Amino acid sequence: MLLTITNTRSPATDLGWLLHKHPDKVQSFHLAFGQAHVFYPEATDERCTAALLLEVDPVGLARQRRNMGNELLAQYVNDRPYVASSFLSVAIAQVFGSALAGSCKDKPELAETPLPLVAKLSAVPCRRGGEAFLRELLEPLGYTVTAQRHPLDERFPEWGESPYFTVELSATVRLADLLSHLYVLIPVLDDEKHYWVGNDEVEKLLRHGDGWLAEHPEKEQIAARYLKRQGKLVKSALAHLATEDTDPNEVAAEHDLEEERLEARVSLHERRLSAVLSVLQASGSKRVLDLGCGEGKLLRLLASDPRFTEVIGVDVSARSLEIARTRLDRQRLPDNLKDRVKLLHGALTYRDARIENFDAAAVVEVIEHLDPPRLSAFERVLFGCTRPALIVLTTPNREYNVRFEGLPAGKFRHADHRFEWTRAEFASWCAGVCSTFGYKVEITPLGDVDAEVGAPSQMAVFTRV
Ligand code: SAH
Repeated sequence: MLLTITNTRSPATDLGWLLHKHPDKVQSFHLAFGQAHVFYPEATDERCTAALLLEVDPVGLARQRRNMGNELLAQYVNDRPYVASSFLSVAIAQVFGSALAGSCKDKPELAETPLPLVAKLSAVPCRRGGEAFLRELLEPLGYTVTAQRHPLDERFPEWGESPYFTVELSATVRLADLLSHLYVLIPVLDDEKHYWVGNDEVEKLLRHGDGWLAEHPEKEQIAARYLKRQGKLVKSALAHLATEDTDPNEVAAEHDLEEERLEARVSLHERRLSAVLSVLQASGSKRVLDLGCGEGKLLRLLASDPRFTEVIGVDVSARSLEIARTRLDRQRLPDNLKDRVKLLHGALTYRDARIENFDAAAVVEVIEHLDPPRLSAFERVLFGCTRPALIVLTTPNREYNVRFEGLPAGKFRHADHRFEWTRAEFASWCAGVCSTFGYKVEITPLGDVDAEVGAPSQMAVFTRV
């Protein structure tokens, strides 16, 4: 069984720091059920791949397990050595434990930084649900998934397909998130956990599912399979997840949640933020603004990237700024990155000299909250006075609303939206501000594009001419 993880953000060998495994070394680890080896097939500044090779010892296992009544493992010939299963999760936890926990002693800011990562699993058994289930588990988390199914036996095509897939996942994510997703979801796909499941498994599921499982559209299936369908344990896990959903400290406004739930299937907001972040990173901007920063999701990403030397978040809501401050403080950045993020209380419809002469501004899901008569004031202030060289602005695509189950026709996604634009309306507004204020624009869809109604959200990248 082989798992590889590739980083392509230079210096790509940062992956070695994150995994606590030096790219120049081959290291082997003894596990209860076999051996794990870690090595790097490639390690350059542009591309670095770490490989975790797992050798499960089927004979040793069969001896151990025959008396324990485990049918599959009691046989010498089984698929366990070759496929991604709960053995791989155990290996990830033992060999990459601190990376899984999100800590990086020497470079803590790296652990907080989303990186362009690709994970490849040589063989994933999708016993029940096949490729469709594989996608339902991974795509809502923001991964681009490629899956190649293998025939049972290449020499005998008439035997049909096997349940095994070679799977590749790519996304811009924190390494800890990628490892947590793999840790939980591999045994869920395989549906054949090798060990007895008790109360501590509930705790493990909640710990490694922190921050993503409560909102996952397939959380019931995940909990059921992870806990081997033990009714009591599954119930207890789901009850915990449900209280996480409504933790009063985490939830600022019920409406935000409604919008998030509606959009959850495509994990739209995360994809949106990572698209905006990529544009800002690629532009070489150093001093950046997050206008209408809300509770600071984008600010946290900007804060952990040392390329941004000064970051200012502006919002009209004092309550949101308070939450943003708490979350930024909780991020515990190293000294050299601390104190680069400032928060300002202010309205985007009034000129503010404190935010002039910046390189770039992000305006994520904000304009649809402005009253249409105030829009021209916003345009004047942003494009005319603040006038950064680069503006990245996103807004929903109203045409896509018909694809959201549970959203009555004609309603907006969020009770506080004052308008939502079609693709044509957005393009025409963008063209208007460009010609008035001297910018050029490029508009791209955000999220999966539907042939008829387009993508759920849209992003405009304005550059000053
Ligand atoms: N950009 C954040 C929040 C989007 S919600 C994110 O993507 O997560 C919209 C935010 O815009 C809210 O926090 C709201 O308080 C803020 N906002 C709305 N009108 C504003 C105005 N006139 N001036 C400043 N902020 C405003």
